[in-house]
Amino acid sequence: MRTKHEKIQNNDVAIKKKDVNKRIDPKNNNEKLTQLCRYQKKCGGCSYIEKEYEKTLKIKQEYAEKLFGHFCKVSKIEGMENPYFYRNKVHAAFGRDRKGNVISGIYEENSHRIINIEKCMIENEQADEMICYIKSLLKSFKIKVYDEDTGYGLLRHVLIRTGHITGQVMVVLVLSSPILPSKNNFVHSLREKFPQISTVVINVNDKKTSMVLGERNIVVYGKGFIEDILCGKKYRISPHSFYQINSVQTEVLYRKAIEFAGLKGKEIVIDAYSGIGTIGMTVSEYAKEVLCVELNKSAVKDAIANAKTNQIKNVKFVCDDAGSFMVNMANQGEQADVVFMDPPRAGSDEKFLSSVIKLAPIKVVYISCNPDTLARDLKYLVKYGYEVLKVCPVDLFPFTEHVETVVLLHRTDM
Ligand code: SAH
Repeated sequence: MRTKHEKIQNNDVAIKKKDVNKRIDPKNNNEKLTQLCRYQKKCGGCSYIEKEYEKTLKIKQEYAEKLFGHFCKVSKIEGMENPYFYRNKVHAAFGRDRKGNVISGIYEENSHRIINIEKCMIENEQADEMICYIKSLLKSFKIKVYDEDTGYGLLRHVLIRTGHITGQVMVVLVLSSPILPSKNNFVHSLREKFPQISTVVINVNDKKTSMVLGERNIVVYGKGFIEDILCGKKYRISPHSFYQINSVQTEVLYRKAIEFAGLKGKEIVIDAYSGIGTIGMTVSEYAKEVLCVELNKSAVKDAIANAKTNQIKNVKFVCDDAGSFMVNMANQGEQADVVFMDPPRAGSDEKFLSSVIKLAPIKVVYISCNPDTLARDLKYLVKYGYEVLKVCPVDLFPFTEHVETVVLLHRTDM
């Protein structure tokens, strides 16, 4: 993917600074922006931030057509009306620059050097302000930032999740030890400045690892999770749970997936790689029964609580490897009519895909955040008796090279 994109990028003309305001919707208070992104060269997160948004959609559309066009016609990519500040989850690593000043932000591409970020064009703006404020509090609270080389210091990362509809905010302070000095005063200062913060959690990460979160969470304020509403249903989101980072486009994506499935209300449906159960619960209105399978225990715990909150009775949750679960189902002669699958970036695996073939659902709706692994997996499913009927890219990650794709497959013998 990169080679093609780089090629297109080189042939492209970067937009001029004076054009920037024209492209940004003034209704969204963006008039104050005078340049797109100060960090673009170092960060590498948004490879397309200097392009016209429409042009970035065209690049993604063409790539989808190249990969999937031989299966069927690729629908027009679903873009965003306002493609800025969409990330509801913002993560900042803390450290020091060469002069010893505390900095916080994203790692430079392919390195562990931190870029000091004050305002990112795709992150929730309020979350960025909170991170800057936390940085300004550190000195007076005598909180030392963690040094990756020496293992000395306390604050490693800050993670902020914001409910798109509810506005609830969760601040996760990732510390190398469970003790935060003057914990209550620190939380008080944070909440005084940002009363919308509904929960503060200390996550303990005492390992020399590049993983952001450690296993242990200590709730220091509020419930330890936030709630948000997606496709009309309420979800509880814990620090460790997967939740799509672009809420507006997730609704577009799920609606497209439901449209593709064409459910009549009598189907047994599997939601594989289900996270906190968002697809399964959205689909539950249109199906007889939904089985959600997910490996992450805390996500399954959230999913069970979510079903209760939404009074959904026709959804079951299983904490298991999706492949093992499907193999068991197929071995026991159980049946499913439709399988929704939404694996991580690495895609699915042969264990899972071969059990799909064995279980033989009439339809498979494959949702993918990586077109390359999607193309590989589709090839397998097509080889063993499915045909690709519909493909639609959805721009879940504007200005980055990433794109989500939803695909409908149908058994050829039905
Ligand atoms: N469908 C959800 C989550 C998709 S992300 C949503 O739209 O929000 C992919 C999910 O797959 C993650 O929650 C991850 O924990 C889970 N996962 C990864 N490997 C898995 C496996 N082998 N079996 C089951 N779930 C897995």
